[in-house]
Amino acid sequence: MLNPAAAARRAIPSVDRLLNDSRIATLATEYGRPLVLETVRAFLDRARGELGHDDSAPAFDDAQFVERCTRELERLTRLSLKPVINLTGTVLHTNLGRAVMPKCAAEAVMRVMTQPANVEFDLEGAARGERDSHIERWLLRLTGAEAAIVVNNNAAAVYLVLNTLGMKKEVLVSRGELIEIGGAFRIPDIMSRSGCKLREVGTTNRTHLKDYAEALGPRAAAIMKVHTSNYVIQGFTASVAETELATLAHDHALPFIVDLGSGMLVDLEEYGLPHEPTPREALAQGADIVTFSGDKLLGGPQAGLIVGRRELIARIRKNPMKRALRVDKMTLAALEAVLQLYSNPARLKDELPTLRALTRAAADIDSQARRILPSVVAAVGDKATARVVECASQIGSGSLPVDSLPSAGIAIEGSGKNKSSAAQRIAAAFRALPLPVIGRVRDAAFIMDLRCLDDEAPFLAQLTELKL
Ligand SMILES: *Cc1c(COP(=O)(O)O)cnc(C)c1O
Repeated sequence: MLNPAAAARRAIPSVDRLLNDSRIATLATEYGRPLVLETVRAFLDRARGELGHDDSAPAFDDAQFVERCTRELERLTRLSLKPVINLTGTVLHTNLGRAVMPKCAAEAVMRVMTQPANVEFDLEGAARGERDSHIERWLLRLTGAEAAIVVNNNAAAVYLVLNTLGMKKEVLVSRGELIEIGGAFRIPDIMSRSGCKLREVGTTNRTHLKDYAEALGPRAAAIMKVHTSNYVIQGFTASVAETELATLAHDHALPFIVDLGSGMLVDLEEYGLPHEPTPREALAQGADIVTFSGDKLLGGPQAGLIVGRRELIARIRKNPMKRALRVDKMTLAALEAVLQLYSNPARLKDELPTLRALTRAAADIDSQARRILPSVVAAVGDKATARVVECASQIGSGSLPVDSLPSAGIAIEGSGKNKSSAAQRIAAAFRALPLPVIGRVRDAAFIMDLRCLDDEAPFLAQLTELKL
């Protein structure tokens, strides 16, 4: 006699029998046979294991099995990359995709994505066109440069510039500017990968013009200035002004390269924000080549922009690596739409989400926090308490590291004894919402800085689903 568990195990159907079940066949039509087969096999294995270890386990249940498979297939086919609500207080959050783009950019991307487009096709001459021409015209107007090209990101821009202009030669950089940007962008590493020799100049806190002059040997190819975007050196410091470096480089017939990092195209001071150097300023100070990101303060897609003198840009464009680092039509479309917004600076603050978020008044954010608070209080029930707090937003992505923007938000604290583990649990519950809400845990509280909550309706609509 078989014991009941063994009998039940025998009763587990075969893969073939299950695949012939009409309900599983329907799943196969919807999700594709390979994924359904994989799921059915995995759950059958699991069922065998469960029944084998537990004498009292109920017998195999077809309907329940189909239900389990359906839920698993839904989970497996849910897209992994999805929108979230950024309430971290960091406007340009690299891990959350940096700049949020305007609708006009999304529409431009949609148009070229779903149809052929004149990416490299000259509609007037019916000849081969230049991929970068679509954005070059805007960049020239906005920076005063003679020529411009676009690559995958600013790291690629720096790499391509160095590889073109400095291969097997020396590029001078101050020791105070040997930066690391989050996620493994380090100037010394990019230098060596690009085939240049880094010639370190001066000291960490002080570098003088004579240090550069002394380092200029016969193998020198360029002088480079790197904008120390994510830290500041304070105290007993000295660095050399761009104009002096440009003169020194030009006296030796060498190019002067500036890596700006963020590179805002308009003067942020006009919007009441701290000053961030612009590519136009760098070029006016004598830079021959300036590189900057598309998805930092500029507020566009991930891209690296290279602007500067015509003959240098022509050499950079001819580098075979340009082909490996080029951007696709979706990036070009988004970038063109965003750059076009800059032609009307008066409307920029309303139309560019990055600038809109950065210029939001603290009083406006505070009244939003007060408006939202009752809904949050209701959602957390008696498990936690919520109150409006002052916050300090960061610009993020290495821009203006010491400046913070006064803001407001909502802090939630657990009602139990262990406040910090409660804060972690609350953070996890908000992350588990259909539109995950990403906040910050500080001082044993979960804090949501509302600076980037442009549209509060979707945030409020899902609060009833919060499970603390
Ligand atoms: C951000 C930054 C980079 C890297 O730019 P990505 O667009 O992230 O590749 C390089 N240099 C500086 C100074 C930066 O701030």
